[in-house]
Amino acid sequence: MISLFAEPRASPAVSVSPAAGSLLNADTPRERVRDYVSFSALSLFQRCSLRYHFRYVAQLPEESTAASLVFGRAIHRAIEHHFTELLAGNAPPELDAMLAEFNSGWDETPAQQIAFPKTASRDDLTQLATRMLAAFQDSDVSQPRGHILGIEEELRGRVINDAPDLLARLDLLREVDGTLIVSDFKTSRSAWSADAAADAADQLRLYSLLVSQRFPGLKIRLEFVVLSKAKKVVITRHDVAIDAARIERTKRIAQRVWQAIKAGNYFPSVSPLNCGTCPFQTACRNWTG
Ligand code: SF4
Repeated sequence: MISLFAEPRASPAVSVSPAAGSLLNADTPRERVRDYVSFSALSLFQRCSLRYHFRYVAQLPEESTAASLVFGRAIHRAIEHHFTELLAGNAPPELDAMLAEFNSGWDETPAQQIAFPKTASRDDLTQLATRMLAAFQDSDVSQPRGHILGIEEELRGRVINDAPDLLARLDLLREVDGTLIVSDFKTSRSAWSADAAADAADQLRLYSLLVSQRFPGLKIRLEFVVLSKAKKVVITRHDVAIDAARIERTKRIAQRVWQAIKAGNYFPSVSPLNCGTCPFQTACRNWTG
């Protein structure tokens, strides 16, 4: 099945604001909900509603965390550090400083929690991170034109009908010649094709609605910046067209997903793609329905 939504990042939980309290099931424990919904939570529900239930409703601790997820978050943190230095008016950080951020990000997950694939050790992944961050420093994406307005900027607002606020975290927001540019950084096993970028584009299109609410009247441009994890690292940009009809479709699908969440129908969606990195495999096996 092709998902509407892109591969999610670690994300905040789904929730309902007091103003939207009527959206809650009567038996939804209020201390377990927040007053927003994230794109990644919606995406997770689409991929496997039971995994969504374990994470956001039962709030089970993860049995393990895939090394690929830990790696992606740590790379993200290193890149965030780079742009934070630029925003502060400082010189770009040296590779060692970026690697230190990578390692700090990695160490946020307890070592015994991390599930490595058979083909890669921590050392292998550190070497890969070194190559990827060096390639990032050498590429023009590390020296973006214009003024940086925000890094990991949180925006939220009501963009999905009959659902709580959507909460977005923008990797990089800058202004170039009167246009706001939203950049979302991804790591991927291989370079993205145009089709892969198109499949992931709904996330950014929804985010563009939040940017419009915050900066009305300004032109907006959306892009993915993808760092491949191949032996020779490739960094590509993919522009995302802001298409009104597509945005409307995405909003309606998100609304339906939210309605399904409210209905609380959870069931396993077993597939190698879903289950290989699932942190709740034991809970799933023990689930009695
Ligand atoms: S193991 Fe697979 S089916 Fe079970 S909860 Fe995880 S992703 Fe869903």
